[in-house]
Formats: sequence, C-alpha cells, structure tokens
Amino acid sequence: MFLAYCAECDRRTLLGVDEIDWVENLTRGVLSVSGRCPRGHEVVILTGDAFTPHRDPRYFGPAPRVWTRPLHRMRGWLRTRFETSRNLPGPFYRF
Ligand SMILES: [Zn+2]
Repeated sequence: MFLAYCAECDRRTLLGVDEIDWVENLTRGVLSVSGRCPRGHEVVILTGDAFTPHRDPRYFGPAPRVWTRPLHRMRGWLRTRFETSRNLPGPFYRF
C-alpha cells in the first residue's frame, strides 16, 4: 500500500495494489508508482531506497579515548607550561 496525495481532491488516500497502474524504475533507488485515487484522478508517487534515511557511512562516531588521551595529556602539559612561563624571558624585553 502507498499513501498518495491527490491534488485535485486535496486529500491523502491509500493506494492498494489494485489501484496501481504501473511502476517504473527511474534510476537506482528511485521508483515511480502511478495509480488512481478512488475518484479516478491520476496520482504519482516517488519512492524507493533513495528516500529511506540511512546513517552516514562516512561518520564513525567520536574518536576513541585511546586516540584522544595522548592529545588531551599533551594539551594539559602545554597549558601548565604556558601558565608557568607566561612572562617573557629577559632577552625579549626591549626596555
Ligand atoms: Zn482524486
């Protein structure tokens, strides 16, 4: 069954298998289902796997702690060094 919107009736209807005239495979993952609403108007539905939400295969989630722990440790070490040596050494003073 397909949920179809008929613009002429301005309502949504369920299309059963009997109301479907033809199905065309437009491209990979995109199907065009054509049928008729109960009042006889033509209705076209685009459906298929391309319209199904999938997880992004390029996103692997947050980095594991095994990778981030050395960076956090180094950032903490740099922060302490920056805090302790905030003053410029003598040769860098102009006056
Ligand atoms: Zn209709």
